[in-house]
Amino acid sequence: MVRTRFAPSPTGRLHLGHAYAARVARELAMERGGEFLLRFEDIDSTRVRPEYFEEIEEDLAWLGLRWSGIPIRQSERLGAYEDALRKLQELEVIYPCFCTRREIEDEISRMREAPQGPEGPLYPGICKRHSSSDREEKIAGGLPFSWRLDAGKAAALTGALDFTDLRQGRIRADPHLLGDVILARKDIGTSYHLAVVVDDAFQAISHVTRGEDLLSSTHVHRLLQCLLELPEPIYLHHRLIVDASGRRLAKRHDALSIQAMRESGRTADSILAELGH
Ligand code: GLU
Repeated sequence: MVRTRFAPSPTGRLHLGHAYAARVARELAMERGGEFLLRFEDIDSTRVRPEYFEEIEEDLAWLGLRWSGIPIRQSERLGAYEDALRKLQELEVIYPCFCTRREIEDEISRMREAPQGPEGPLYPGICKRHSSSDREEKIAGGLPFSWRLDAGKAAALTGALDFTDLRQGRIRADPHLLGDVILARKDIGTSYHLAVVVDDAFQAISHVTRGEDLLSSTHVHRLLQCLLELPEPIYLHHRLIVDASGRRLAKRHDALSIQAMRESGRTADSILAELGH
């Protein structure tokens, strides 16, 4: 059974870019007699506002992008992310990181050739060098820490991995692309990468559709799926909707929110038709 999902963060109203993402997911499911689900990625409690849950549902329903079942909320699934983290800990592919942002920046500026990722410098591995007694001492002393993936160890364990993208075909996963990413943040105990992988499996998502800006994340997700023994979904990384000057849509584009367009008299059909091109 084909199952897709739309996974917005309730940190703002939906705009044209979200409508496109939701439509891509829903159409893929509908074309194949499948199901389209909704998931709220609301783990970052500092940015979530409660009214957006309902408003997002309202916007989707108005657009005619109906979903099946009751939407899940990541904030209610923290136990599942903890279990996954524990499993990664048992595999010894994660390590605690005590660094502050400042310490990381200082280390990077001291390095002659800091490792680079698609979005800037990668974590330079400071806390990977601690001995286990060092780590225990810091933890016992109450120093806050995040958990980072040890990309090298993880890749050694999984061996070579690939994933399928419906537009680009088979892609070799590069486990080092994002370096030793954070899998559990100091403040929220999890991360986008960990939660999305756990939940796509939990919701039995067969086809993960998302913007092409997240293609680099998929490399890490494939690694996590293998480590956590979760099924491998098929991917579709779709293009992004951009504004007149080519910038991807964001919260600053209030005029392009679905609500604003609806209030200005636009119909759902005209909005969806515009997205088709
Ligand atoms: N919550 C993510 C976003 O708003 C969706 C990520 C995904 O589809 O994997 O972009």
